[in-house]
Amino acid sequence: MNSMELESRYTSGVYGKRPFTMVRGEGATLWDENGRSYIDCGAGISVANVGHSHPVVTAAITSQASTLLNCPEMFYNDQRAQFLSRLAAILPGDLDRIFLCNSGTEAIEGAIKFARLSTGRSEVISTVRGFHGRTMGALSATHNKKYRQPFMPLISGFSHVPFNKIEAMETAVTDQTAAVIVEIVQGEGGVRPGSRSYFQALRKLCADRGALLILDEVQTGYGRTGSMFACEQMGIVPDIICLGKAIAAGVPMGAIGLGGRVTDLPKGSHGSTFGGNPLACAVANAVLDIYEAEGLVERSAQLGARLLEKLQAIQSPIIRDVRGMGLMIGIELRQRVMPFVLALMAEGIVVLNAGPNVLRLLPPLVISEAELDVVVERITAVLQPEVVG
Ligand code: PLP
Repeated sequence: MNSMELESRYTSGVYGKRPFTMVRGEGATLWDENGRSYIDCGAGISVANVGHSHPVVTAAITSQASTLLNCPEMFYNDQRAQFLSRLAAILPGDLDRIFLCNSGTEAIEGAIKFARLSTGRSEVISTVRGFHGRTMGALSATHNKKYRQPFMPLISGFSHVPFNKIEAMETAVTDQTAAVIVEIVQGEGGVRPGSRSYFQALRKLCADRGALLILDEVQTGYGRTGSMFACEQMGIVPDIICLGKAIAAGVPMGAIGLGGRVTDLPKGSHGSTFGGNPLACAVANAVLDIYEAEGLVERSAQLGARLLEKLQAIQSPIIRDVRGMGLMIGIELRQRVMPFVLALMAEGIVVLNAGPNVLRLLPPLVISEAELDVVVERITAVLQPEVVG
């Protein structure tokens, strides 16, 4: 059996898959098993921000693998110490205590625990179309019924209010609210950025009512939106920030940054076997080296603005809206998106969907202008009425 047949036979079946077997990547290029190349505008869902097979990442993995892979947090470790201090230095404001974990959903899970612990309150408010992960706590904060319904009852004390509408939060946040969890740009929910005035008012509301503001920057963080963290563009500092995806270039890792309003956490109140392991930390250090050396945050802002402008200029009756921040761009269609996603794959471009009718672009931040020009050209050709019936 080939890879597709083997996976189909032995996988759990929970993933909807595209019929392509990817075997290699370099920069913003992916290759399938037949040697066909694709321009990657998904970056593994905003993971490969430094591109695939970056030599600095490869060197860090190789070196750390032959030094020390695992070191639980009962001990100190050189790579972890370095990464904690470097991340604290780039996180905004007073977010200078960090819990390391292994994925985005774990970062949300930990943030919910820390917020309940710190405030002594239990209620958590998130937003309509918000996506925060699929473990039970994060799923309770996630809005989409399709993900939630089969697993009811979820954790009590969670509610959802419309996104980017401060009046809804003003009504919902009370003296029982432990935390509000929001994304700056709703990713899975359709690439929908909130406004600066909304986030500033939300920041103040949470502070006034004694609730913690948790920003889920799992997808928007690490330069994706044209600043290292998207909250910088909104002029706010959350009480807790959740990170994942790109921080170790594909080696699983998540992080929770804690600000001054989060009280000291009792020993033993949370933990993780793999959290803060030396391999992930060594790669995370290499990732920060690459961001500095290659100016990836500025690159995201510049290339993103150029790409957005070109996409907004496409004339097509299928397109309803083109929006985004940095290299996080959504093209909302008047039709279902999956046939267009597959048509683009056939043209050698990997793109993502965000919900049923938004085409999502999250290319590696190292992608070239020339590659983006090819992407625009092929998207223009594919998003025409006669291409997909
Ligand atoms: N939060 C956001 C905003 C996400 O986009 C995702 C994943 O797509 C998650 C949380 C969950 O991350 P993970 O899949 O690493 O658990």
